[in-house]
Amino acid sequence: MADTGAKESLIALLRGVEKFNTHVFPEKKELFKELAEGQSPSTLFIACADSRVNPTLITQTDPGKLFVLRNIGNIVPAYGEMLGGVSSAIEYAVQALKVSNIIVCGHSNCGAMTALLKPDGNLDSMPTVKSWLRNAEAAKAVIGALNSTDVGPATVRSLAEQNVLLQIAHLRTHPSVAAALTRNELILQGWFYDIGSGEVAVLDEQSRRPISIEEALQHLEASNAPA
Ligand code: ZN
Repeated sequence: MADTGAKESLIALLRGVEKFNTHVFPEKKELFKELAEGQSPSTLFIACADSRVNPTLITQTDPGKLFVLRNIGNIVPAYGEMLGGVSSAIEYAVQALKVSNIIVCGHSNCGAMTALLKPDGNLDSMPTVKSWLRNAEAAKAVIGALNSTDVGPATVRSLAEQNVLLQIAHLRTHPSVAAALTRNELILQGWFYDIGSGEVAVLDEQSRRPISIEEALQHLEASNAPA
């Protein structure tokens, strides 16, 4: 038998399902009836697998709106590097579901970014994670931290931001994304989510700096990008 903690957390999950069935589902019955027929999400949302990042909560979206892809470090390997779960989800979201936006969302206190800054830590016992994080290595060079051992919050944030911009650059190497961008049918945007304050900043690709949601909205309203 598993330890008490494991059993209790599983019981809590099953109780959660009961609550969903009795309280939450009936309130959104019409929505689920519609969703039972198919999905038409507007956005492919790529986030870290971190348990504290909740894409539907921070965007206040209902089921059916976000096609969510999560992994350690919100990483998108460049096309051809690793054809697998990430590249197939991107191809499906863009070609079959025809999403209009792809958001790559990094976050504060990211364990993957911290591990990247501290390669001598315990990554040697996790060869798969170590190999996966190589897809973010260039972000470390961008912040000039190739030999840094500083894992303070400011450095981790700066690496997380540059990692988001790097993964957006990788996204452009995917043929489905490149084609949709050429047809002006897709917007790519990077976000940084601060867990402690709840704030989301948009990472401006030109300046490579975070801007406020308000400023990002103004840019969008002023541009001719597809709405
Ligand atoms: Zn993370």
